[in-house]
Amino acid sequence: MANKDIVELGKKNYMSNYSQFPIAIKSGKGIVLTDEDGKEYLDFVAGIAVNALGYGNEDEKKALFSVIESGVFHTSNLYYNSHAVHAAAMLNELAGSEEVFFCNSGAEANEAALKMARKYGSAKGKSVIISFQHSFHGRTYGAVTVTGQDKYHKGFAPMLPDVVYGEFNNLDSVKALADEHTAAIIVEPLQGEGGIIPAQPEFLTGLRKIADEHDALLIFDEVQCGLGRTGKPFCFQHYGIKPDIMTLAKAIGGGLPMGAAVAFTKAKGIFSPGDHAATFGGNVASSALAEVVLSKLPELSKSVEINGEYLGKKLDEIVEKYPELCISARGMGYMRGIELKINPRDVISECMKNGLLVCSAGYTVLRFIPPLIATKEDIDKAIAIVDKSLAALS
Ligand SMILES: *Cc1c(COP(=O)(O)O)cnc(C)c1O
Repeated sequence: MANKDIVELGKKNYMSNYSQFPIAIKSGKGIVLTDEDGKEYLDFVAGIAVNALGYGNEDEKKALFSVIESGVFHTSNLYYNSHAVHAAAMLNELAGSEEVFFCNSGAEANEAALKMARKYGSAKGKSVIISFQHSFHGRTYGAVTVTGQDKYHKGFAPMLPDVVYGEFNNLDSVKALADEHTAAIIVEPLQGEGGIIPAQPEFLTGLRKIADEHDALLIFDEVQCGLGRTGKPFCFQHYGIKPDIMTLAKAIGGGLPMGAAVAFTKAKGIFSPGDHAATFGGNVASSALAEVVLSKLPELSKSVEINGEYLGKKLDEIVEKYPELCISARGMGYMRGIELKINPRDVISECMKNGLLVCSAGYTVLRFIPPLIATKEDIDKAIAIVDKSLAALS
């Protein structure tokens, strides 16, 4: 089928909760995607920071084929499966954490973290969760409540009670909110959907201190910034501190749905049998791909650390060349953005026409989140297309 027929069928049958671009993806190889009309795109979106190993990775294919051969795609959590326990062991090893709960998405990982926070607090008579303005934690009720952006709440009141919002990168705003009622602080070490805003080191270490002073849990949402994207296996590893809970999703399942809530020492043992569950959590196929992704993480992180610097430098050059369209570039590793003076959607459409997929973050930021396997040559190709596209919009 052609792009336009698929788009038409989608428009007729989907709910209209997305504003989708009018192409349908058919296949992929490396970091190049092909649509149903045969047009190729260099992919700097990676399915929104999901497809870390790009497309057609041989190890991922082998892992999936072995699951297919076994005949068992799902076991439930009434029983163990080898892939999920190995993935959990690898996660704990890489993060220095103690326990893992597997689920199916970022929102679900954050729901688990929030329930852990409330259970931890309930024994101590406290329930308040501090979150941040411009944050994004997902669309389920708990996750969307701690998402500190009005546009995600509008029309869906009432939200979860006992959630308050501090100002990101402003420790005083948190000190003013934290007290003996604080059960947890939830924060993205590098805000994604809110506009690619890195936390200042003093801010994160300060949050660690505040959480400790009030016996509250510190939750890092690394759903987007974790798993090699910033040039270390986990973003918190840049800062010399650890959270009590870390949430993951997006890249962990190699393109299959998967999320995880990871507990460090202080949050160990909060859940008892019956407290929480997910039927599909630790699904055989997702976990088999997670083993592949996690096994490659140390090596991938190193290349992202180096190439990410290069991407940052190239984006700075773009900002300098188009001062009438761009304000500044920021980010870490392979999670970067350019704050624009024009609507990102215009740039995205022009880039798409020229064979590059990029996306936005918020209303003003053009976001670059390529597969972690992207090379310097890929960056050069992408930047050439951004350059050409901005020239056309000047
Ligand atoms: C994408 C995202 C989520 C939500 O993940 P879903 O899998 O869409 O539920 C949560 N937190 C952050 C930081 C994200 O980027």
